[in-house]
Amino acid sequence: MDLNTLIRLRHIFEEVQKKQDWKTALDALFLSLRDSFVFDNVAIYLEDRLEKGLDVAYARAMGRGKTAEADAAWGEKVANDVLRHGHMILKEPAKGTQGGDRMKQPYLLGVPLYVGSKLRGALLFVRFGGPEYSELHIHIAALQSFWSAALIERKELQEAHSELDSVQRQMRLQDDFVSTISHELRTPLGFIKGYSTSLLRQDTTWDEATQHEFLTIIDEEADRLTKLIEDMLESARLQSKTLQFKFSPIRADALVRDVATRVNTHHPNLKIDFHLDPLPPVLGDGVRLSQVFENLFSNAIKYAPGSKIIVTTKELEKKVRITFSDEGEGIPDDYLPFLFERFYRVPGERTVTGTGLGLYICKQIVMAHHGKIWVESELDKGTTFFIDLPVNPTL
Ligand code: ADP
Repeated sequence: MDLNTLIRLRHIFEEVQKKQDWKTALDALFLSLRDSFVFDNVAIYLEDRLEKGLDVAYARAMGRGKTAEADAAWGEKVANDVLRHGHMILKEPAKGTQGGDRMKQPYLLGVPLYVGSKLRGALLFVRFGGPEYSELHIHIAALQSFWSAALIERKELQEAHSELDSVQRQMRLQDDFVSTISHELRTPLGFIKGYSTSLLRQDTTWDEATQHEFLTIIDEEADRLTKLIEDMLESARLQSKTLQFKFSPIRADALVRDVATRVNTHHPNLKIDFHLDPLPPVLGDGVRLSQVFENLFSNAIKYAPGSKIIVTTKELEKKVRITFSDEGEGIPDDYLPFLFERFYRVPGERTVTGTGLGLYICKQIVMAHHGKIWVESELDKGTTFFIDLPVNPTL
């Protein structure tokens, strides 16, 4: 090999390696050698392990017949042959049929794609109307096939890696959840048991005010248990997509005010500022959306104690936006991406009771409305939750 070729190859390697995304890396790979190896279309067919067919994993049209990019069926037969025989296949128009419509004269080259030692698919090139593939072209194609396989392997490893990360995180969350949930179940049960045992003691009589106080605690703790169990069941149903929604036209500004009034009766000292624009109706499940709003109020009360809550509603193009802001401590940036995951609680959040289900439930409900929920937070300034819901033009 001469020095210039080596330098060139090295540059190409560097260019391809730099690309983050495997498809742009493949683009760079095929474009970089196009002056030595011209073709009209290229496609990578990979064996679909489940369906036993071939999937087009990558396709590009470079020259004539650009529309062929979407329809990579041109190489499927040869790809199947490559896979069946495990070697390179050249398919050129029969001698004497040349001339006439070039698009009807495909010169096909199919190269096996080995990922590791496994034959996983084929790399296909087509030249409409020729010329024939020279020995140099065939070597370049083989080189590109090795290279493509390495890029595919890299992509598959990256995918496996991020899947593993998410499974690991989920497992950690499940573990934390078991300890959280047992604590959360035990605390109200402990109160209920303790106060009812006290009331039942034969050797003591309680005055009416004390009895009332104990019974109120029992009542509140029983409500807390019910809410906890409902949340767990609901999150399980949402995850398995078995929760039924009843959609009807809803005015979200009116709904949020109703919920706020209810919240205020339980928390008379809570200050809620409203900036409510009248909103067009959205197609929604009033009960479920109220639950989302309630949850956001209750989080602000729990995690930003003493702060006022600012609620806004606004009509935007084809959607409505509802926001809930508090002026609490805020949430560090590092934790924000996980807030809506099932069981997720900000680390160190042990003084405030909770299960990490609330925001997960909110997100699932908003998504069932084809909407979007997200959060922005600034340390020592506060936290804002945003909800966008699509406006149905037929309402
Ligand atoms: P839970 O309240 O049961 O822990 P959520 O899913 O409702 O679960 O909330 C997840 C986490 O998000 C909470 O543990 C809390 O740390 C954080 N969080 C939610 N809302 C706020 C808020 N308004 N301000 C600060 N942190 C919040």
